[in-house]
Amino acid sequence: MENSSVESTTPVYTLSTTSTLSGIPVHSIRQYIDKGLIIPFRKESNRNLFSQIDILRLKYINNLLNEDGLNIAGIRKLLAIIPCWAIRECSAKERETCQAYHSDANPCWEASEKGTLCKNTNCRECDVYRIVENYPNVKSFLKTLIP
Ligand code: SF4
Repeated sequence: MENSSVESTTPVYTLSTTSTLSGIPVHSIRQYIDKGLIIPFRKESNRNLFSQIDILRLKYINNLLNEDGLNIAGIRKLLAIIPCWAIRECSAKERETCQAYHSDANPCWEASEKGTLCKNTNCRECDVYRIVENYPNVKSFLKTLIP
């Protein structure tokens, strides 16, 4: 999945354009950022820019909220149980010290301690963050790990 589409991760859209393209109000996008559901690209000017992946994620979050009845805390928990170590194929040694492996409190990109592989990866371009690019939901992805 990684490197399959560099363009889809390129941060090109402003907040207002992202709101228009996703159909999600600006204040909701800001809330999703605050809650760690979206990781925008932060420019030096402190303005956020968004990619196509971010827009897909926003739509997915909106579906979870409005169609599946989850709240923000539920979505954070869902993201926190994604088996990132299996997606990244982290070694047993890397897992030892990775908070994302041992805790289900936060999405992996908020982990305070990460394995070497993740320390050197931009989460915005990681397969875990990009899961929405190739799978309509988390379960359809899990089926690829556990047929
Ligand atoms: S690089 Fe970031 S998003 Fe990917 S598994 Fe590591 S912490 Fe999670």
